Amino acid sequence: MRRKTIPYGRQSVDADDIRAVARVLKSDWLTTGPMVMRFERALAKKVGAKYAVAVNSGTAALHAAMFAAGIGPGDEVIVPPITFAASANCAVFQGAVPVFADVEPATLLLDPKQVARKITKRTRAIVAVDYAGHPCNYSALRAIAKKQGLLLVADACHALGAAYGKKPVGSLADLNCFSFHPVKHITTGEGGMITTDNAKLAQRMRDFRTHGITRDSSRFSQVSSFQFPVSHYYEMQSLGYNYRLSDINCALGLSQLGKLDRFVARRRAIAAEYDGAFRSLSPALCPLAVSASVRHAYHLYVVQVDFPRLARRGGIGKSRAEVVQALREFGVGTQVHYIPVHLHPFYRERFGYGPGLCPVAEAAYERVLSLPMFPAMKSGDVKRVIAAVRKVVGT
Ligand SMILES: *Cc1c(COP(=O)(O)O)cnc(C)c1O
Repeated sequence: MRRKTIPYGRQSVDADDIRAVARVLKSDWLTTGPMVMRFERALAKKVGAKYAVAVNSGTAALHAAMFAAGIGPGDEVIVPPITFAASANCAVFQGAVPVFADVEPATLLLDPKQVARKITKRTRAIVAVDYAGHPCNYSALRAIAKKQGLLLVADACHALGAAYGKKPVGSLADLNCFSFHPVKHITTGEGGMITTDNAKLAQRMRDFRTHGITRDSSRFSQVSSFQFPVSHYYEMQSLGYNYRLSDINCALGLSQLGKLDRFVARRRAIAAEYDGAFRSLSPALCPLAVSASVRHAYHLYVVQVDFPRLARRGGIGKSRAEVVQALREFGVGTQVHYIPVHLHPFYRERFGYGPGLCPVAEAAYERVLSLPMFPAMKSGDVKRVIAAVRKVVGT
């Protein structure tokens, strides 16, 4: 009988996560209650940031970041193409133009030299992605942002638990966005968070997640006509959304956060085992490079495969589709991260982008494959992946 396929990623939810959620379900608060602030404070503390704002997805986190940064029509936001579409979409939500800057070939992280080349008078922000869980080149990107007066936004959805030098991801950019989708390091079902040291930006994002409404009388602009204490009164001061994260989700997130170190340690151990096992497959198969100055969080374990080379050696054509299919027959699931965002029909049609814009990313797209990586993988699962990869890719 064929065993169940090992997916490329999945959540780990245990009995105390379930108890934490059940407690909220029996309490007075289902949506915005005490768990939201507790989760925000715990995550801010964990990443060494002053403020954290919980929202209901990583996409909402990126959108709130763009709003807080004052990004609007006529503005340009620099973003790498090797990422999930949301990293660029957030600029479009605000009417701005995402400008794609190419990545570095060894890591597929945003290349600071390419960023510098793409800056114009209209550039307002950089959205840098900690692809696969490897922190981007924060020192170079911060230097560019500072020199040019740009806001640095980290799409850190892959990198909760990672560090750059000694500083945790989440404390390195002006605004740092996280996702708690089930494949990420910790989950709330759906959910997201932005961390920042800037009180003003944090306040703008808090307003944004609830329709631009404030109930804080010290911030009312129409106090004169409402002098007497009127408890019904609130002001909608900007256009926001309902991006709130519920107490149910936050209870799960808080419970999961307590296990983050263990989850990340397990991911690193799996990566170390893969690294060792795949060394002999080079150059047909090479894991992405890891800089010595970072602590990788391994949201993904990405390998670059020279598919034409496999074909030559085996004498039979081995396309990526064939490799994916062969691995699947050994019970190993894979995924491709990512189709370069500028090649999607929406970006071609709306902005006139297309092949040739980011040659490094486009070449990498032909080679990348994400292998199973999640903390609940058993030792036997890891060995099964290694054996399957050796059989399919090796000689
Ligand atoms: C997951 C992810 C997002 C979006 O997060 P959602 O919670 O799914 O909205 C954005 N950027 C990157 C790089 C991601 O991996």
